[in-house]
Amino acid sequence: MARAFNFSAGPAMLPEAVMQKAEKEFLNWNNTGMSVMEMSHRSKEYMSVAHQAEADLREVMQIPDNYKVLFLHGGASMQFSGIPLNLTQPNEIVDYFDTGVWSAKAIKEASRYVNVNIVSGGDEANPTEIPDVSTWKFNPKAKYIHLCSNETITGLAFQEAHLEHVFAQGKPVIADMSSDILSRPIDVSRYGIIYAGAQKNIGPAGLAIMVIREDLIGQARDITPSLLNWKTYADNESMFNTPATYSWYLAGLVFDWLKTTGGVASIAKVNQRKAQKLYDYIDQSSFYHNSIAAEQRSWMNVTFFLKNNALDAAFLETSQKAELLSLKGHKAFGGMRASIYNAMPEEGVDALITFLTDFAGRHVNTL
Ligand SMILES: *Cc1c(COP(=O)(O)O)cnc(C)c1O
Repeated sequence: MARAFNFSAGPAMLPEAVMQKAEKEFLNWNNTGMSVMEMSHRSKEYMSVAHQAEADLREVMQIPDNYKVLFLHGGASMQFSGIPLNLTQPNEIVDYFDTGVWSAKAIKEASRYVNVNIVSGGDEANPTEIPDVSTWKFNPKAKYIHLCSNETITGLAFQEAHLEHVFAQGKPVIADMSSDILSRPIDVSRYGIIYAGAQKNIGPAGLAIMVIREDLIGQARDITPSLLNWKTYADNESMFNTPATYSWYLAGLVFDWLKTTGGVASIAKVNQRKAQKLYDYIDQSSFYHNSIAAEQRSWMNVTFFLKNNALDAAFLETSQKAELLSLKGHKAFGGMRASIYNAMPEEGVDALITFLTDFAGRHVNTL
């Protein structure tokens, strides 16, 4: 099979130009006689790679000077523990939205360390809607508010008006943006912390990136492991121990690619167009359907169901043969999911719509 359109939710497709550059530089980076993978993280060559990656991320996200960028171990999930350990004492209260599986995992970890108030949700595992703000229950004593801006499994995303209501509480807002970071412009200054595992819109798995307002660093509990304490990272340029050097380098190539394609504002237009045409196709179809509230549909993870789910296996087998890969939905939600991150070309979405049309046409008599 040639390089295909890969709709995996993560690890996910990376930009082809990035993969080609990495291939070209793989054995011998910049005439140093070695691969980035073989370099000391303390060497001036590697430091230049690391610094450039941060500078490019700062540029594409327009990160204010009073925010640090940390390159962390353990993916986004490690920070589910890191957040309460760095920001609270055991008897304190924090606010969490429960909008799906990833929120619930963050809540489960935080609950080991601190009292968690659920602002909204929690009655079902995979909600398809974030309820109206009038139903939300913030705790006035909460130290921070945590949310997952894009629930990767269902494709449920916070809408602007909802975020405004969260910011209006005047607390540090902490957002797990693992699956929508860099997908559209955001105002970093409104957040206390933005964090993300790399494997969706940034680079290889294992690495996590955190953009954090400086005043939130330095309050960790004494028991916090050094490698979970953000101050350790901030004081050591994220090199207290050996960082995930090659993942960091690849993330840097992705940030550079984003710059050359016109930045986040420009890719946001493509992302919106990609998502819109896919939802439009699904909505007008009598063969497929999407169950997420219209205003809260993700641009990154488009879930859909075949109305006749007896055809699911045939759908997956045929789509794979058509070189449209990894369309199976998460087992917790079922159905299908097309993850269409920044690296998915618009042609991939067009090819998917053509396939969906064709498959429906051939099986329409089974409805
Ligand atoms: C994938 C994902 C995670 C987990 O990332 P890891 O790097 O595997 O820890 C957390 N939150 C969201 C929203 C995700 O999509």
